[in-house]
Amino acid sequence: MNPAAFAYHRPATLDAAIALLQEHGDGAKLLAGGHSLLPVLKLRLAEPAHLVDIGGLAALRGIRDENGTLRVGALTSHTQLTTDPLLRARCPLIPEIAERVGDRQVRNRGTLGGALAHADAAADYPAGILALDAELVARGPNGERTIPAANFFVAFLTTALAPDEILTEIRLPALRPRTGTSYQKLANQASGYAIVGVAAVVTLDEQGRCVEARVGITGTSERASRAATLETALRGAPLDDVTIAAAADLATDGLDPLDDLHAPADYRLGVTRGLARRALLAAAERARAN
Ligand SMILES: Cc1cc2nc3c(=O)[nH]c(=O)nc-3n(C[C@H](O)[C@H](O)[C@H](O)COP(=O)(O)OP(=O)(O)OC[C@H]3O[C@@H](n4cnc5c(N)ncnc54)[C@H](O)[C@@H]3O)c2cc1C
Repeated sequence: MNPAAFAYHRPATLDAAIALLQEHGDGAKLLAGGHSLLPVLKLRLAEPAHLVDIGGLAALRGIRDENGTLRVGALTSHTQLTTDPLLRARCPLIPEIAERVGDRQVRNRGTLGGALAHADAAADYPAGILALDAELVARGPNGERTIPAANFFVAFLTTALAPDEILTEIRLPALRPRTGTSYQKLANQASGYAIVGVAAVVTLDEQGRCVEARVGITGTSERASRAATLETALRGAPLDDVTIAAAADLATDGLDPLDDLHAPADYRLGVTRGLARRALLAAAERARAN
């Protein structure tokens, strides 16, 4: 099916893009890499009268260091995220996630900002963004605001962004010494999307006890979330295999699992606990090496 007719805009500045969103309200949609939006348009699940293509806003692309925080432009492609040396050295969780997104074509066109703003229940990055305690920067008619990752994912395909706001940047705080990270995923074999994905960020003290563990889960429920009960159980604990296995069983505490053609609810919960265990084991091992 072809999309319904729309007017195409390619603003030269961020302010011009925001002005177009304000002018056309619900009738406008932002276009980044198009790899989630175009399927939606072709299926006529959305029929915006105006497409605002932000692909020309070069300032929203790329990765830079500011006082230890890595600032990733929303238009940075999945491929750029897999190859960027700064990210690979300082925040390897994001490249680890990016290289498992979809296929080469998707990774070349799709963007981090588009993936986060779309907030698909099966998207990979939300797990990592939550576990890293990232901040998301949005610009709208009233200026800029910063949204903690924990408040960003609101519901299925719904984020804290207002309709006239543009996600401009994702800020990744510096990892502390003796921190390890890992992303584990059970992928849908056709698309690559996560049936379940679990990201872990683990910091150890000099004796090998857990100072802090942060775990983000995607795919299991309609929106990505942190595994708060598991995280509390690990604080101060020695990170041996038995402790990790017991804590991983708490990964699904409070989750309301999806039950669909890709996986039944019980299976999703079991996979979530198993992947939490693997992610914690791998992150703890990397933390010991750091
Ligand atoms: C075959 C296929 C396989 C895929 N496999 C995976 C996978 O394994 N894992 C995974 O996580 N994803 C997967 N995806 C999705 C892919 O990662 C998309 O690139 C991503 O979800 C959307 O990014 P985009 O830049 O293409 O955004 P677009 O499709 O252009 O936009 C998506 C939505 O976000 C909005 N938007 C875009 N940018 C912004 C912004 N800066 N601020 C505010 N709103 C914005 C748009 O208006 C639109 O509503 C797959 C997609 C396809 C087609």
